[in-house]
Amino acid sequence: MDSQNLLNIAKQFGAPLYVYDAEKIAAQYQRLTKAFKGVSSLRLNYAAKALSNISVLRLMNNLGSGLDTVSIQEVKLGLMAGFKPESIIYTPNGVSLEEIEEASALGVQINIDNLSILEQFGSKHPDVPVCIRINPHVMAGGNSNISVGHIDSKFGISIHQIPHLLRIVDLTQMNINGIHMHTGSDILDIDVFLYASEILFETAKNFKALDFIDFGSGFKVPYKAGDIETNVEELGKKLTTRFNEFCADYGKELTLAFEPGKFLVSEAGSFLAKVNVVKQTTSTVFASVDSGFNHLIRPMLYGASHQISNISNPKGRERYYSVVGYICETDTFGSNRRINEISEGDILCFKNAGAYCFTMASNYNSRYRPAEVLWHNGKAHLIRKRETFDDILRNQVDVKELFEVSEKAVVK
Ligand SMILES: *Cc1c(COP(=O)(O)O)cnc(C)c1O
Repeated sequence: MDSQNLLNIAKQFGAPLYVYDAEKIAAQYQRLTKAFKGVSSLRLNYAAKALSNISVLRLMNNLGSGLDTVSIQEVKLGLMAGFKPESIIYTPNGVSLEEIEEASALGVQINIDNLSILEQFGSKHPDVPVCIRINPHVMAGGNSNISVGHIDSKFGISIHQIPHLLRIVDLTQMNINGIHMHTGSDILDIDVFLYASEILFETAKNFKALDFIDFGSGFKVPYKAGDIETNVEELGKKLTTRFNEFCADYGKELTLAFEPGKFLVSEAGSFLAKVNVVKQTTSTVFASVDSGFNHLIRPMLYGASHQISNISNPKGRERYYSVVGYICETDTFGSNRRINEISEGDILCFKNAGAYCFTMASNYNSRYRPAEVLWHNGKAHLIRKRETFDDILRNQVDVKELFEVSEKAVVK
C-alpha cells in the first residue's frame, strides 16, 4: 500500500479515515512466529484492545492467532469474529467476579490477577482451569502509564505474595494451568525482559499442572526515525533457549504464549485527515486538520510521536508546521514538523495509527468518529461506517417535557 493508494482511498471514503494494511499485519505475525520457530508449541494471542474492529479480529483468526481480551465485550466480539472459546484468553484487571464467571461460562481461558477474586473463583469453581497473572516487579515500558510491572502497579499478583497464593490454590484445590506476566508496553531492553522471565520460570515451578507460560507483550515498534525497536529475533533466540531448558526441567512441553497488540497492528495503520486551515502566526505555521484528539489521542495522552506526511503534495518543498486538531483545548498532533508544503484541502497521513488509535476515539466535541477501511489483496474494504448525527443522539434521553415553555408563561 503506497501513498497514492491512500490518497485514492481518502477520495473514495472521505476523511478523517483509518486505513489498515492486512498484508503488513500478516507480515508482522509471520515475523514473530519465525522468531520463535524453535519453540515446539507457540501461541500468539492478539491483544484485541489495540484495534478491535470485528473484521480485523477475523483477519487475526484467519492468520491462526488466538485472542487476548480484557473485557467481556472483547470476549463476545472475539467469539462473533469466529475465534473458538479455547483460543481466547481473558485477562481483565479489577473486574467483578460476576464478569469473570460470565467469561468462564463462555468457555474462554480465565486469567486472574488478584488474590481476592482468585479465592472466590477457586472456591466456587475449583474445576475450571485458571491462569494467574504474576507481577515480577520489573520495570519495563516507556511511559509510566503503560509500564505495568513496577512495584506500585495495580496489575498482577506480586511475587512477594506467592506463599499466600499457594495457600489459596491448596485450600480450594483449583487447577492452575497457566502463568502469565505482562510488564507493559515498549520493551527497550531484552535483558530486562529475560530477567522478568526468569522470575516467571521460578514461580512456575510451584505449579505441577501447567499447560502454558504467557509472557505478555510490550514489543516496541519504531514511531520515528532513530527509535529503538524490540529486537524480536534476538529475543526469540534467547527466550527460546531458556524456555526449552525450562520445559526439559519441568518435564513437559509447555506452550509459550505472547499477547502482542501494538507489534501486530501499529505500523499497518494510517490515519488520514484533511487540512481545513493553514494559519500563519508570527512564530508558527499551523495546519489545522479536520480531526483532533477525539480521533487520535496518543500524542496528547502519552506524548506519542506519529510521523506526519502530506500525501497530497509528496514532492513539495519542505517547510515547518505545527499540525493541530479542531478540539477546543490544546490539541497538538505534532510541533515544528518538516512536511512537504501544505495547502488547504490536502490530505495528511499519520503513521503507526493501527494500535490504540481508533479504539481510543471518542465523540468529544460531539464529533463523529472516523470510518475504517481494510486494505486487503489490493482492494479497499469499508469495515466501519462513518458516524452520523443519529450516533451522537443514540441513547440520549431528551426530557424535553421538563423544560417545555408553556404558552401561558410566555409574556406577550
Ligand atoms: C495491552 C495488553 C497487551 C498488549 O500490549 P502491546 O504493547 O500493545 O503489545 C498484552 N497483554 C495485556 C494483558 C494487555 O493489557
